[in-house]
Amino acid sequence: MPLRRAIIHVDMDAFFASVEELDNPEYSGYAVIVSGLGPRGVVSAANYAARKFGVHSAMPIGRARRLCPQGIYCRGNMPRYREISTQVFSIFKQFTPLVEGLSLDEAFLDVTASRKILGDIETIGRAVKDMILQQTGLVASVGMAENKFLAKLASDFRKPDGFFRVPENAHDFLDPMPVKWLWGVGPKTELRIKQAGILTLGQLRRADRQLMQSVLGPQASHFQALAAGEDQREVIPTRSDKSISHEQTFDIDLNEQRQMLAVLQKLSEQVGRRLRKKKYSARVIRLKVRSSHFQTFSRQISLIEATDSGKAIYNVSKALLKKWLQQHPGTAVRLLGVGTSKLEDNFAITNNRETKPGIESVLDEINDKFGEQTVSHTLGRLS
Ligand SMILES: [Mg+2]
Repeated sequence: MPLRRAIIHVDMDAFFASVEELDNPEYSGYAVIVSGLGPRGVVSAANYAARKFGVHSAMPIGRARRLCPQGIYCRGNMPRYREISTQVFSIFKQFTPLVEGLSLDEAFLDVTASRKILGDIETIGRAVKDMILQQTGLVASVGMAENKFLAKLASDFRKPDGFFRVPENAHDFLDPMPVKWLWGVGPKTELRIKQAGILTLGQLRRADRQLMQSVLGPQASHFQALAAGEDQREVIPTRSDKSISHEQTFDIDLNEQRQMLAVLQKLSEQVGRRLRKKKYSARVIRLKVRSSHFQTFSRQISLIEATDSGKAIYNVSKALLKKWLQQHPGTAVRLLGVGTSKLEDNFAITNNRETKPGIESVLDEINDKFGEQTVSHTLGRLS
């Protein structure tokens, strides 16, 4: 019988907008919208007063202004949000070292072991929520359950100011929910499931396995397990404050994609090597491009699974660069950079991995002995 885990999901309510309200007491009672400036900006956060008018994040700012002309529109203050985020995450760490950040204002806490000292999951959840309010003046919603999927649903369930623990028999809680509440089900998948006559998680859980495989393909068993409230994924501590990157400025601007990709591959391998040396894996991979006109662009992708592989980092940054080149045809490039962030400690994920040294750590050893870039995948022909 597997250990029953205790997982808390904490999500700050309308985070950026709430920080603006906190810092500007005169905003109290008004619709507050944080967004990029200019006519092409989008809403990055809206408080609950603004949501009543139908304003929500990712909405173009023009549309938000039509829906809610009387709202207070502020430009975001990232350094301030980061500062409060750091404060909130240091609160989390007083309850458990197992904190997995999903964004500045959202995290999973595995408190399975903490219960021995701090009390049951609801006692801990309440203490986290109270401490956030006392120390920052902000409200968080807290969901509690025995796995990540259920805990995340639970924090959303009574938002804002939510505090909900999924009952022992998760089916009672899940069965009536619409299928779109399943993690990973987008509009297309939702439509396919509905067309099979399945509207609720209860129906999905009980649906015939083969029928679901014909509807959802290889993901069917994963979705049916989630619908049954089963989720084995572990809470993997993140190092959101750290990043590892390499960049290179060129004496002569690069014009050809082939040259750019060669540089990108070298940078990716350097980044991968440093990650492995520090025993980190990265969840976010970022490409930096500076054009010959000194304009700097940044593009990034969040991976489902963290990586420390130079090859994987290269594949992602290559895709980002090709997309950028499509958007900026014929632009010469002055600088290229590859960065990684949302770093995780490798020790936490070795359980799920093969531990035998891969080709990359062999390359690392050779490079350590003979200097950086003695061999790489292309030059070494070792793979
Ligand atoms: Mg939030």
